[in-house]
Amino acid sequence: MYNVKSMKAEEFINDEEIKATLKYADENKDNLKLVDEILEKAKLRKGLSHREASVLLACEDKEKVTEMYDLAGQIKKDFYGNRIVMFAPLYLSNYCVNGCLYCPYHAKNKHIPRKKLTQEEVEKEVIALQDMGHKRLAIEAGEDPVNNPIEYILECIHTIYSIKHKNGAIRRVNVNIAATTVENYRKLKEAGIGTYILFQETYDKEAYEYLHPTGPKHDYAYHTEAMDRAMEGGIDDVGIGVLFGLDKYRYEFAGLLMHAEHLEAVHGVGPHTISVPRVKKADDIDPTEFDNSLSDEMFCKLAALIRLAVPYTGMIISTRETPEIREKIIKLGVSQISGGSRTSVGGYAEEERPHDTEQFDVSDNRTLDEVVNWLMRAGYIPSFCTACYREGRTGDRFMSLCKSGQIQNCCHPNALMTLKEYLMDYASPETRKIGEELIEREIENIGKEEIKPKVREELIKIENGTRDLYF
Ligand code: SAM
Repeated sequence: MYNVKSMKAEEFINDEEIKATLKYADENKDNLKLVDEILEKAKLRKGLSHREASVLLACEDKEKVTEMYDLAGQIKKDFYGNRIVMFAPLYLSNYCVNGCLYCPYHAKNKHIPRKKLTQEEVEKEVIALQDMGHKRLAIEAGEDPVNNPIEYILECIHTIYSIKHKNGAIRRVNVNIAATTVENYRKLKEAGIGTYILFQETYDKEAYEYLHPTGPKHDYAYHTEAMDRAMEGGIDDVGIGVLFGLDKYRYEFAGLLMHAEHLEAVHGVGPHTISVPRVKKADDIDPTEFDNSLSDEMFCKLAALIRLAVPYTGMIISTRETPEIREKIIKLGVSQISGGSRTSVGGYAEEERPHDTEQFDVSDNRTLDEVVNWLMRAGYIPSFCTACYREGRTGDRFMSLCKSGQIQNCCHPNALMTLKEYLMDYASPETRKIGEELIEREIENIGKEEIKPKVREELIKIENGTRDLYF
């Protein structure tokens, strides 16, 4: 039976409830009166339930779909302004004992070389990432209790935070590793991680078990209940996601929102971020084998509806997507993107992009400088800010600041100050020129008048060599 507050996976992600939701959505997709009521509710910026959002997803009325897109764009502007937070993935190890059918790291793949970074190699990778200008990483690793035990992950986190190279620093390490125990989540929290990220891949239990035939990841309940354990272990920023293309997207969409509702109902705080990866070609993986891939159009609609359903939750898109799709989807609600990414173990320290240990084909191959330049030309402020969690603005504290709109007074100035650091230390002359002009314009858009002179002062300090200033 469906119970949003249950701690059992099959009760808070309830198959019957999802099927009933899809039926309700089909029955009401042409009920424009209901669609209008749901859109009115979305305008209050307090979110939508999985049932309401599923009706919008099923609705094909052109005018209404345009309204959904416009509203998503507006909500995105209201909560996130024109800021886009930048990050990069760092692959630590591709040793893996699982048998995931869509992932090239699956245990039976004998063509890829297995590699695990030593601490010296982690240092090299981090220096290369710092030299690009990155301040925020998401570390990635396969699941392998012998080769990648929690102690290894903790040691890597420690190494990453300890490297101070020129003006560089990694100030926030998010972690994307397999579901683990409360005790291990507590250790990750103590190591100072930002968000704990774990993709559900698919919420459909049957499909999940088929796609994860062997290894610890086969256990649907253990995987689905991971965020509850993470929160019990003290991690209050968690990032959820679906690997779109593996199973039916309407089912996944409802499941994703039910997961968010569950976290909010039980822990008083929903997910910090939602990721929307799509399955990609990779060694030993042909995405066309999964016959339920998602069209670009529907992908954009999904992103827009996530924005309406959970207005305060950050949305992440990676370099799995092309620059064209990224441009489209940023407008509809994405708040964080990766740039200059390499998805292979040890890839950043190499001159040329290595392909042998890549997790998936990257569709946006531009350098970080090119991505920053492109974002600014399109009117966005690339932000390297990591202030919130360092100031203890996490979990429900972060959410209440978001909901009251007060967060803008920190985010906008912090975005400008961290962009200034980037321009001083890493940008090409052309990017720097565009960026300086952008900062000048954007100071005027700071809401509170009294903050403007303060920001100007801080920018001068950065110009004179001070780093890591934030509100
Ligand atoms: N091993 C951890 C786990 O099992 O959750 C997390 C690390 S894994 C490197 C990160 C994510 O990459 C997976 O959760 C999956 O969604 C995604 N991924 C795997 N194969 C992919 C593919 N072929 N295309 C796109 N994304 C993929």
